[in-house]
Amino acid sequence: MRPFYIYNTLSRKKALFEPLVDGHVGLYVCGPTVYGDPHLGHARSAITFDVLTRYLRHIGYKVRYVRNITDVGHLENDADSGDDKIAKKARLEQLEPMEVVQYYTNRYHDFMRTLNVLSPNIEPHASGHVIEQIELIKKIIECGYAYEVNGSVYFDVEKYNQTYTYGKLSGRVIDEQQANTRKLDGQDDKRNSFDFALWKKASSEHIMRWPSPWSDGFPGWHLECSAMSTKYLGETFDIHGGGMDLLFPHHECEIAQSVAVQGHETARYWMHNNMITNSGQKMSKSLGNFITLEEMFTGMHQLLAQAYTPMTVRFFMLQAHYSSTLDFSNEAMQAAEKVLKRILEAVHTLNKLTPSTVSTRSKEITTIVEKCYEALSDDLNTALALAHLQEAVRMINSTNDKKDTLTTADIETLKSLFSGIIFDALGIVDEQQQSVNTALLDGLVQMVLESRNKAKADKDFAAGDKIRNDLQQLGIVVKDTKEGSTWMLA
Ligand code: ZN
Repeated sequence: MRPFYIYNTLSRKKALFEPLVDGHVGLYVCGPTVYGDPHLGHARSAITFDVLTRYLRHIGYKVRYVRNITDVGHLENDADSGDDKIAKKARLEQLEPMEVVQYYTNRYHDFMRTLNVLSPNIEPHASGHVIEQIELIKKIIECGYAYEVNGSVYFDVEKYNQTYTYGKLSGRVIDEQQANTRKLDGQDDKRNSFDFALWKKASSEHIMRWPSPWSDGFPGWHLECSAMSTKYLGETFDIHGGGMDLLFPHHECEIAQSVAVQGHETARYWMHNNMITNSGQKMSKSLGNFITLEEMFTGMHQLLAQAYTPMTVRFFMLQAHYSSTLDFSNEAMQAAEKVLKRILEAVHTLNKLTPSTVSTRSKEITTIVEKCYEALSDDLNTALALAHLQEAVRMINSTNDKKDTLTTADIETLKSLFSGIIFDALGIVDEQQQSVNTALLDGLVQMVLESRNKAKADKDFAAGDKIRNDLQQLGIVVKDTKEGSTWMLA
């Protein structure tokens, strides 16, 4: 197995990745809060950890990938006050909260599929793990790191900080001054402003509520990931990922909750993808520069010069290292579109090259392959891997132009390089080829269905049934309606 080097946000160092169990990786990623349409930020996080999973699998690891769905407890200001984001949306749209959850979860899945993001192995919902979260709160109270006030339970950061270090991940230090002076006077039940909710008592109009030993209420947002990661990956696991915006307070609080109970940390490596900006500005709804994936794919947004395909979006993101900010602009997207097109054209050219008995570039091919893998093994440097791959593209084109010659072995090496890196590890799909294939398949099935119609018209029902069964064997299901026959893949 190739060595993999990973930058650990916790130790602030890049080091050789050493899994707990040889050849196996436990990965937990904070998934979306499902109350709005998926946008570019969702895509970047999902694609980052999709490429991590794909690449680790590509080099031989078995990965158990857990990515949660937040459907309860994520309050508006990311902390402990304000409305629950989902409950608010439900009230505004006059829907059941679980209707909101289902709708946006489906939307998220649909868009991830078009981006060729693989499904996680386990996708737990916070609302399905309230029992586990209540159990965890009980343990934190038993260990002495939480207190109850008026039916709500808060994590006692000051107490925790006497034994452990709160702020390890984000580098934030609790200001002693602040700790002493900012006792909140009656507006909040918290002893200190930086304490965070483990359980919140629900107000009478709050719909999403569960019984607990403290009150009818709901779990705090940070709690779900501690409870679910431990449940599915154990008390210690390999990698915890998420967007940089989750580093504080979400991940910091997760660490505190787990350490309070276990005495040690759960995740050994923390990995954070950076944000997407729009012409240098943070993307936000209030600035009007916030672009959803649907808007990207249809071009229906005032800032978009055109529609961009899912693979252009995916490729655009892969052209930057996951830990750098990525600035969206039409120019950058159009450039990505061009480069991707050139790479996919080279793959077609590669399949048509005539091999020669002598090679002018053998040595370089070996170097390119090695450099591509080295780049991806170096903390997933997709940008560098793609730059090296461009050298292979130039080589294919110069061979096609008769300026170079390649042997059969060279061509085979290049084919496996492209299928390994571009398609398998980076998860790119040739959309044009895919739509050609779809059109071709539809044309062929329609031809077959016409002969079946003719057989039926000739009262040769046995022949008609045979065609139907043969198609079924191939995974094509025919449905007869009054208007005619339609088909779909089984
Ligand atoms: Zn989380």
